[in-house]
Amino acid sequence: MTVHVPTCTATAEDPVSRQVRTESGQREVFCGLTGIVWLHRKIQDAFFLVVGSRTCAHLIQSAAGVMIFAEPRFGTAIMEEKDLAGLTDANDELDRVVTQLLTRRPDIKLLFLVGSCPSEVIKLDLSRAALRLSQRFSPGVRILNYSGSGIETTFTQGEDACLASLVPALPAAQDETSSLLVVGSLADVVEDQFMRMFDALGIGPVAFFPPRKSTALPSVGPNTKILMAQPFLPDTVRALQERGAKRLAAPFPLGVEGTTGWLRAAADAFGVDAATFDKVTEPNRARAERALAAYKTELADRRIFFFPDSQLEIPLARFLSRELSMKLVEVGTPYLHREHLAEELKLLPAGVALTEGQDVDLQLDRCRLARPDIVVCGLGLANPLEAEGITTKWSIELVFTPIQGYEQAADLAELFARPLVRRAKLVA
Ligand code: SF4
Repeated sequence: MTVHVPTCTATAEDPVSRQVRTESGQREVFCGLTGIVWLHRKIQDAFFLVVGSRTCAHLIQSAAGVMIFAEPRFGTAIMEEKDLAGLTDANDELDRVVTQLLTRRPDIKLLFLVGSCPSEVIKLDLSRAALRLSQRFSPGVRILNYSGSGIETTFTQGEDACLASLVPALPAAQDETSSLLVVGSLADVVEDQFMRMFDALGIGPVAFFPPRKSTALPSVGPNTKILMAQPFLPDTVRALQERGAKRLAAPFPLGVEGTTGWLRAAADAFGVDAATFDKVTEPNRARAERALAAYKTELADRRIFFFPDSQLEIPLARFLSRELSMKLVEVGTPYLHREHLAEELKLLPAGVALTEGQDVDLQLDRCRLARPDIVVCGLGLANPLEAEGITTKWSIELVFTPIQGYEQAADLAELFARPLVRRAKLVA
């Protein structure tokens, strides 16, 4: 989806002494509805009802692609042209669809009404609709709303909006015990691995947000320590901080170094001594480093260019440059949260070209001029760049795939090595 806004380009000094070019202009991004694809798999008793147009229905259908099954937990209530005639009709229609859905699907315990950007939907007050429907269906079903609109957003912001809408529903922590809250969707297999590490380190109680079941929401309060698992959740973290929780400063758990720094932040906050930390993490670190070595041969000195898309770009760039010796031509990110990314920015090589925002034509010009070995970008740019002989990696794949933690470090490296190997074979 292409969004047009006026163009301007500027540079600024960021708090960790890095030059950051800020750009605005035409962008090539998916909208926040995309988050439904992984969120519906994570929260197993939730349903995501997009209130949108046929475009929104097509986006969800094609993004979810092969994952559509007999009883999917997402759908689109399509607002037709005729709904524009009267908002009362649109609200009645929405109530009818929700009633039909919840009657047919008693397994749904949490329903998200997901707003979108067509003008007929913007006129609908979905927060009032959620309140009205909640009164009718509680306590069996909780009904919340958030926006997945594509105006001025990028696709990972859908998760942020979804989780932020869920924060007010979290119960207040009742006791003085410190607890750890890992914030951001992780694959179940990754969550299980981290849980075993926290157990071995003696850190707990630990909860994950979002939870697998909406009936088991974690509690939050002044003794809750937040460890961010994803970098794209500023609104969620702010809402949790307003409930008293404290964020731990940490890099993100990508690669060996990132995972170690992330675990160490939790270990320090829970008073784990250095010897215990080393004893628990060392075998995992050593195994992951051995697994990464094979990919270093393939990736070292390869030049990589990141277009802004997933908001994972900075932690990925840090991993690829420090652990695999890749050369960073340009690292674009849609938004740069300087506080949440501070630990990452410190680890980037000196002089790295950082860009916040996008003017896609200018960025394409820079990319073509630089002729990098590999480009990380959205689907809309990947095909034209491939046609020009430039190897690409879809950034959306990095959000769908389990990439966090020691066990996944080599898998993450392989995601970048594979397109290069494929290109080499094609050329040969
Ligand atoms: S929410 Fe907006 S950007 Fe997203 S699919 Fe619907 S119309 Fe397109």
